[in-house]
Parts: sequence; structure tokens; C-alpha cells
Amino acid sequence: MRTLGLLLLAMLFPATLSAQPPAGTVMSAADIAEYGLDSCFRVAPLSDAVFARMQGKSYPKGCRIGRNELRHVRVLHYDLEGHVRTGELVCNRQIADDVAEIFRELYDNKYPIGSVRLIDDFDADDRQSMRANNTSCFCYRGVAGGKKLSKHARGLAVDINPLYNPCRRRLSGGKWRVEPDNAVKYCDRSKAFPCKIDRNDLCYRLFTARGFRWGGNWRTLKDWQHFEK
Ligand SMILES: [Zn+2]
Repeated sequence: MRTLGLLLLAMLFPATLSAQPPAGTVMSAADIAEYGLDSCFRVAPLSDAVFARMQGKSYPKGCRIGRNELRHVRVLHYDLEGHVRTGELVCNRQIADDVAEIFRELYDNKYPIGSVRLIDDFDADDRQSMRANNTSCFCYRGVAGGKKLSKHARGLAVDINPLYNPCRRRLSGGKWRVEPDNAVKYCDRSKAFPCKIDRNDLCYRLFTARGFRWGGNWRTLKDWQHFEK
């Protein structure tokens, strides 16, 4: 019945069949078969609809990154309960194929990822996105305390499962700041827990094999969620 409905829609609106359900939707094996697995992993220019969602959020006024430098990447991923869900990222066109390939390999290996939604769904609030363990890439923002653009501002960095792979920096006075703030217990990297990225982890191997640097290798700042090119 669903197939018939989709076919009918496709005849009426030829673009409809290619439109996937929104990011975060649970996909059954039958759903995936209807869309075709390969077409669930796709790189495309930013559609008007995607670009509109980003306005004033990840793409603020005065954003110096051109729309045509960015790509919209659709993926599937396993969540932490083993369901397959749709996901989407906006990234720089320079890494778009890498990202699509990496997420395809993660999917093929049933690698668990909490959610893969645009940071615009969190009002471009990185803290909220990280607290929700959301994996994301592009967000136009500066490096804290400087004029330099972060790799995320250019869409050249991906944060994976940020709750389990927080960012920890040392503040003056010997204190630490952990982001997200609900991830303090995951800063002890000698412990075993799900979704932990270390040098044996599949994410680590896939990203570094394509020339990405891992924030977990940095010395003063540890950014275990972060891969950048
Ligand atoms: Zn990052």
C-alpha cells in the first residue's frame, strides 16, 4: 500500500520519490528498500528548503561562507537502541564525499550514533546539540575568544556522539571545563563505555584514513568528538 502511495505521489510530483522523511525518522527494512539503500546516502547542493532552515541559525547574517561551498549530506545510521534512522549533515563540499562514504561504512558496520540532525534543529545552540548527543558539522561561529573561524564555521569538522566524547579544556587556575556539561563522567577515557572514540574505534580509523585530524590527539584541549580537515 505504501509503495502504491509513493508511486502515485511520484507520478503527480516527480521530485517526491527522492524526498526522504525528516532526519531522526526510524526506517524499517521495507522503507529502506523502497528508497534504495544507495539513495539514502546522498550529497546534494543546499536546497532552498534546507538553506531557509539555516537562516539566522547556523547561517547567520554576514556569514562569509558561500551557499555553494556547502553541501547537504543525507545518511542512515543505527541509533543507540539499534534502530535505523535517517540523518542529515551540512558540510563543506571539500569533505562531502568523505562524509557520505564514512557514514555509509559506519552504517554497514552498525556503528551506533545517537542522532544526526542539523544544528538548526537546536537553534544552532551547540550546547543543546551536544547535550542531546547530536552529531553535526557546519555551524558558522568563531573560535572562542578569537576572530578566527572554527573548522565548523567552514563545514570542515564533524563532531560525533558528543555526549560520550566531550570536549575538555583547562581553564586558568587549573580548573577544567567540560562540554557538554552533562558529560563529565565520560572524561575518564580509561573506562569502557559505548560510543567511546579512541584510536581503535571505527570512526577514528575511517576519518584519519581520509586525512582528518582527531581532537582526541590534541594535548591541552581534548576534543574527543571532533574530526577536522
Ligand atoms: Zn568539533
